[in-house]
Amino acid sequence: MNEIDVAIIGAGPAGLTAGIYAGRSKLNVKIFDTGVGGGMMATAHAIENYPGFESISGMELAERMLNQCKKYAEIEEIETVERIEIERNNLKKIKTENNEYTAKAVIIATGLTHKKLNIKGEKEFLGRGVSYCATCDGMFFKGKNVLVVGKGRTAVSDALYLSDLASVVYIANNGDVFTGEQIDIDALNSKKNIKIFYNAYLREIKGEKLVKKALINVNEKDNMERELDLDVDGVFIAAGEIANTEIFKVIGLNLNEKENIIVDSLQRTNIDGIFAAGDVTNSIVKQISVAVGSGAIAGLEAYKYVKKFEKVK
Ligand SMILES: Cc1cc2nc3c(=O)[nH]c(=O)nc-3n(C[C@H](O)[C@H](O)[C@H](O)COP(=O)(O)OP(=O)(O)OC[C@H]3O[C@@H](n4cnc5c(N)ncnc54)[C@H](O)[C@@H]3O)c2cc1C
Repeated sequence: MNEIDVAIIGAGPAGLTAGIYAGRSKLNVKIFDTGVGGGMMATAHAIENYPGFESISGMELAERMLNQCKKYAEIEEIETVERIEIERNNLKKIKTENNEYTAKAVIIATGLTHKKLNIKGEKEFLGRGVSYCATCDGMFFKGKNVLVVGKGRTAVSDALYLSDLASVVYIANNGDVFTGEQIDIDALNSKKNIKIFYNAYLREIKGEKLVKKALINVNEKDNMERELDLDVDGVFIAAGEIANTEIFKVIGLNLNEKENIIVDSLQRTNIDGIFAAGDVTNSIVKQISVAVGSGAIAGLEAYKYVKKFEKVK
């Protein structure tokens, strides 16, 4: 059936929670995801700040949320939404590669995507030593040397995870501190097989069929620049994230300077009948608990909107 009450774009924690709430209100709900669902959460190796679980892998929490959500909403896996159009009667047309749907309300929960560095070798060696997901690909580097590029929460988490698998984990931090939770940064500093380069910039990834070396420039305290050719088999890029909002620009959604969707306290966007939740919005804290909370509000508000919409028609 291609006519739905609520279309949710993205099956991460925000979209799945919205699906549970809207679905339990007896609406016909479809959730679209580029992959199999779970979102960024599924790539976290250990989650220790989501209430109810002292420690749980991101994959397991994702599976639990997906199974719970499937009771109330239909999840369309590997179905990327390419476009939304707003029809005259205010129905929303959802276009994916192979299908078209109409929905009374839409919840955007597309999260963030990893930033590319756009350096030589990054594209060429993608999947052949270059990765943006340590928990997905880390196992391929058991006993090998790897480089993590970044200074934020993801870089810290990736380096910690990889330090249990790899022989040596180098980190190229392009500043002089790490950001993220202090407890993780302390753990990073206590690991013997992690070697950190501060004020370090990845310039090139080299190899033949697979990655063999990473060229980094390190700015020393005396302003001298040192060039290092590190012997590595893997390069994990964790250079920040940007909001997945490109496809929504054409419909005139209000975005902030970081391209996150601006929402009010009821997760409403500037377009009637379009809500947004989770990391893709202008929420200050990008965490699962926040994504879940905003997803619950979006699901309930979409329900109210659909009921009002049906009365008017
Ligand atoms: C390495 C790492 C560790 C983390 N650790 C923690 C932690 O310990 N605790 C914590 O609370 N948070 C942690 N986070 C953050 C947490 O994962 C995010 O805050 C959370 O996943 C955001 O949920 P979301 O639903 O908004 O977006 P996401 O989880 O990013 O989900 C968005 C979904 O939308 C899909 N999508 C995007 N565009 C489209 C499209 N056009 N069509 C269809 N589908 C689309 C994507 O495939 C994805 O599945 C971590 C993140 C990372 C990267």
